[in-house]
Amino acid sequence: MKHQDMDTDKNTDLSTTENEIRKHILLVRDLLNKMVVEILKRSNTHDQSKLSSPEIEYSMKYTQKLKDADYGSPEYLAIQDEMNEALEHHYACNRHHPEHFEGGIQEMNLIDILEMFCDWAIASQQHPKGDIEQSIEVNQQRFGYSDDLKEILRNSIKLLK
Ligand SMILES: [Zn+2]
Repeated sequence: MKHQDMDTDKNTDLSTTENEIRKHILLVRDLLNKMVVEILKRSNTHDQSKLSSPEIEYSMKYTQKLKDADYGSPEYLAIQDEMNEALEHHYACNRHHPEHFEGGIQEMNLIDILEMFCDWAIASQQHPKGDIEQSIEVNQQRFGYSDDLKEILRNSIKLLK
């Protein structure tokens, strides 16, 4: 017996089907490559604004103090307060920070989120008490992102190893 009601008249031949699949594969490849170019741009420009005024002067004054404080602690937040001018400048120049956007994290795109995640990952590796899992948890309160995004970020920790 024929396969359940399969209407063979409407079947597409093998080469047409393959061509359509290949076309889809190539279009997705092109789009992914476009995303790669965006990521490469970020990798070349990340935090460049920190190397010039006013950020560099604040970094000289406060980097050690920030290292000595626990991320997100009252002490850490007090130091951040004193660095306000530099932070405002940094956020204005860098879209990998939710503070760059009036509407916060919900206005970010996938590339912004990826750069932000890499930033948190390296910052937590460079801080003696840093821990990416902890940063993802603490930053959910700070930036108000959903449990879905939190899980997606947590799932991506594996990519760091
Ligand atoms: Zn930054």
